Amino acid sequence: MSQEWNIRSRGHFCSLCQKPLVDKTPVVSALREVVGGYERYDCHPECWKALPRDWEPFSQWDGVYYAPVRETKKEPLKKEDAGELLRQLVTMDDPAMKNVVYVLAVMLERSKTLVERDAKELEDGSIRRVYEDRKQGDTFVILDPRLRLENLSEVQQQVVALLSGTKTLGEVATEEDSAPDEGNEAKPETA
Ligand SMILES: [Zn+2]
Repeated sequence: MSQEWNIRSRGHFCSLCQKPLVDKTPVVSALREVVGGYERYDCHPECWKALPRDWEPFSQWDGVYYAPVRETKKEPLKKEDAGELLRQLVTMDDPAMKNVVYVLAVMLERSKTLVERDAKELEDGSIRRVYEDRKQGDTFVILDPRLRLENLSEVQQQVVALLSGTKTLGEVATEEDSAPDEGNEAKPETA
């Protein structure tokens, strides 16, 4: 599979009975692997339970459905920008940005914007983590590049540079491309 991450929005209607999901009630969400990505299910728990199926979900979790509300209270600007940047990166689907995407997702998890729902190790040994946006319910399937600690601060600096606008996505992608592969010895810092 060439796609390393994926966004799927939460539905507002049950994927099975097509009736509306009710505000603040339990919802079962599941991702099913399909050609080229994932198909997302959001269902009434009873509909999910009653569904006869001959396939196993890639990921499945219990959540609570929140009806969309118009934002009235002001969010700190930083958080929105970070969420917006993640959406942009995930839509671009550029493998060169995999470290940046992952670190940004972890930062958003720490700031409670995202919640990790699942982690899956695939046959090739790679790990994909399923994050859900707490408010909007969108799902992000993100490749965990298993960053080494010494590379982490470098990637964090790139994320901060992107958020503050001192670097463009293109500039960071070029840096990532020319960076040595993970596993090489750490290169000494040269001024
Ligand atoms: Zn239903």
